[in-house]
Amino acid sequence: MKRLSAGLRAGVPCALVLALLSGPTVRASGEAQSQGAQAHEAHPPHWTYEGDTGPTHWSELAPEFSLCAAGHAQSPIDLSGTKRQASPDLQFHYRPSHLNELNNGHTIQVNYDAGSSISVGGVRYDLVQMHFHIPSEHTVGGKAHAAEAHLVHKSADGQLAVIALLIDRGAASQPLAQLWAHLPATEGPVHQESGNLNAARLLPSMHAAWRYEGSLTTPPCTEGVHWFVLESPITLSGEQLERLRGILHVNNRPVQALHERTVSEDPLP
Ligand SMILES: [Zn+2]
Repeated sequence: MKRLSAGLRAGVPCALVLALLSGPTVRASGEAQSQGAQAHEAHPPHWTYEGDTGPTHWSELAPEFSLCAAGHAQSPIDLSGTKRQASPDLQFHYRPSHLNELNNGHTIQVNYDAGSSISVGGVRYDLVQMHFHIPSEHTVGGKAHAAEAHLVHKSADGQLAVIALLIDRGAASQPLAQLWAHLPATEGPVHQESGNLNAARLLPSMHAAWRYEGSLTTPPCTEGVHWFVLESPITLSGEQLERLRGILHVNNRPVQALHERTVSEDPLP
């Protein structure tokens, strides 16, 4: 917790965080979901990945974080199974984006330019942003991968769909080279760097995916998120992984109970 607090949260005045945490009734009553989200973008309750404000305490930090403990459809989860062929109903329509990047104190994120999307069963979800976790959040057969990228999409009616790319240590990622050339090391607002990012080039050649219904893996742990975890990992070099780890340290939420959910795999062709 201290590493993240000192390094990544430096821009958040502690007194303000304490004031927010001590006044939950102000925020608890009558807040529309969208208004709450906007308010918290400005002054989010302080949460981390370790210690007293770590994942097992998220639900205690603010009333609107209660799902983090009470939810029965939480993410990430442990996955298992065999490789399948890609199912044709998941289609990618990705184009390059400017590097609109930020370090938000929890991850490194690229806000993706408009115009890229996936379609699932005929429904379009626009690619909004992508960000990184180290090590991976989803595990496979109980084993974590070195890292994980999340490509977050939103449909016209507000449904969220996340494509998760598992990342192994291996060959350097050329599609991420321009982003890695100036990863924002400290928390700060979004800014545009030179170069671009083409999510189409990030994808593995096989698009077979584990699919399940889950949640955001960060507070407020909102449920109703459609997850697609691609079975084929991509790679980052050891050097690229170390640069990410040097900034983010550890930012993975532990796996959550499956409860009554089932995980489906793309069917064999
Ligand atoms: Zn994520």
